[in-house]
Amino acid sequence: MNAEDREKYSRQILFDGIGEDGQERIMAASAVLVGCGALGTAVAGLLVRAGIGRLRIIDRDFVELSNLQRQALFDEKDAREALPKAIAAERHLREINTGAGVEGIVGDVTPKNAMELLGGFPVILDGTDNFETRLLINDAAISLGVPWIYAAVIGSYGVTMTIRPGETACLACLIESGDHANGNGAHAGNEATCDMMGVLGGAAGVVAAIEATEALKILAGKLEKLNGKLVSCDVWSGKFQSIRVPRNPDCRRCGRRELTYLSGDAQPHITMCGRDSVQIHERNRRLDLKELGQRLAAVSASDVRNNDFLLRCTIAPYEMTVFADGRAIIKGTKDPAVARSIYARYLGA
Ligand SMILES: [Zn+2]
Repeated sequence: MNAEDREKYSRQILFDGIGEDGQERIMAASAVLVGCGALGTAVAGLLVRAGIGRLRIIDRDFVELSNLQRQALFDEKDAREALPKAIAAERHLREINTGAGVEGIVGDVTPKNAMELLGGFPVILDGTDNFETRLLINDAAISLGVPWIYAAVIGSYGVTMTIRPGETACLACLIESGDHANGNGAHAGNEATCDMMGVLGGAAGVVAAIEATEALKILAGKLEKLNGKLVSCDVWSGKFQSIRVPRNPDCRRCGRRELTYLSGDAQPHITMCGRDSVQIHERNRRLDLKELGQRLAAVSASDVRNNDFLLRCTIAPYEMTVFADGRAIIKGTKDPAVARSIYARYLGA
């Protein structure tokens, strides 16, 4: 560690639990973060400031004005430019700490690419907004034998748990057994969405702080200090809870290793949280966005705008966003059939 790093991380080194040895380990370590919204931006900010050696950030979405109230890394310029969150996060994080290697990947974690995108990291961090992706991460973490940190927020409520396959309960032990002490709480983000309930930046901040600190313990090699409990909090009522979740010895995932989320075919359509939109990601192909923009402008699409990463246009009453890998988000419908027909009509079947 050079003099500048010793100065930069001095307050963390002074903290007993980490020390210079722990800091060296953090700087040599890496993590992968899936999803870069309210939780993800806060976790990424904390870890990059803490000096993590390498952070991969995977996100499929772009920055919008309605994100800025809680998604701590982004600004109005990012929203105006409709930058992909992974790209905007990478840019801002590089300015915060040039010593941390940050890699933003614009894309969706699916059964087809999960092992490739998540493999090779000592911890996987949950910044997602849906249980489909979380259960896929849970399968991948069991298959890879690495810990992952589950985290979710909705309204003023948040929940997090550090999952170590083979050691602790996994997400399926928690939600598939159906008789845990926390009732519906563990399903935060499952039944209800941020679209219906809203979400407070403070709830995300509290949960992200716990998640990032758990990650630091793993990176610093302090596994014995991991919390080991399901932590939940409601920042509005002020109620905090910590409960032990037992492993289910008959768990389909971590017990019987039936990793069907990982082996299953990718879902062709996903209705996204927080919006009246459908995502189509079944067509993994490279698109020339400039050429596509000209073609769309010549037909019935209006307000065609593109940057290096994506193209947006209005096809009244819908708004379509197309990414360079062929993925598209159709806003204005919850019906996959409608989204599919728009995609086929303007981008080809
Ligand atoms: Zn399990």
